[in-house]
Amino acid sequence: MSSTHLKITDELAAYIRQSSLREPEVLAKLRAETGTLPLGSMQITPEQGQFMSLLVGMLNARNTIEVGVFTGYSSICVAEALPSDGKVVACDVSEEYTSIARRYWREAGVEDRIDLRIGPALATLDRMISSGRQGQFDFAFIDADKANYDGYYERLLILVRAGGVIAIDNVLWHGRVVDATVTDEDTQAIRTLNAKISRDERVWVSMLGIGDGLTLALKRPGA
Ligand code: CA
Repeated sequence: MSSTHLKITDELAAYIRQSSLREPEVLAKLRAETGTLPLGSMQITPEQGQFMSLLVGMLNARNTIEVGVFTGYSSICVAEALPSDGKVVACDVSEEYTSIARRYWREAGVEDRIDLRIGPALATLDRMISSGRQGQFDFAFIDADKANYDGYYERLLILVRAGGVIAIDNVLWHGRVVDATVTDEDTQAIRTLNAKISRDERVWVSMLGIGDGLTLALKRPGA
């Protein structure tokens, strides 16, 4: 099978950045600080962040959920694209990383749009469902522990409205999804969810080669 994807060389990646990236200074600063952390390579690319801002604008989103905050880059991209009364329910287990996020939320002027919930996200999402918030969210982003991806996806499908979008990060998992010698739990969880979503009639789907792979699943009316 011939590839219809253009291979993004370093030169092309630099061209994309130079020709399209409008990264505010606060995000550039956050990206630099996060890059010095041991897990710094986990942060999304700035182009992906900008794409998510665009998506949130396209959806006219007001209520959003993020599963996996890390140091806050993506939550700022989403929050900045929301109206002033918009909200990001931001789920994470790490006080340490989200303390960096909180500092930058303040600096970016979006802290009042972010509702941080520290604790296992499955339980947070279950509480939101049992408190009657089904169908109330326009956009959700999953970028957390891979073993629970399916659990997050199922809960978010309940919480987003028809026409709302769930974005799932790392669906290509640094290429490991196509390496049959890799059989660890995280890789298997991503493969299993990718296969399930590809035939999930509750959503319209597109798997994008941006960053480490980003799937967009749009909840169909009546699903
Ligand atoms: Ca990620």
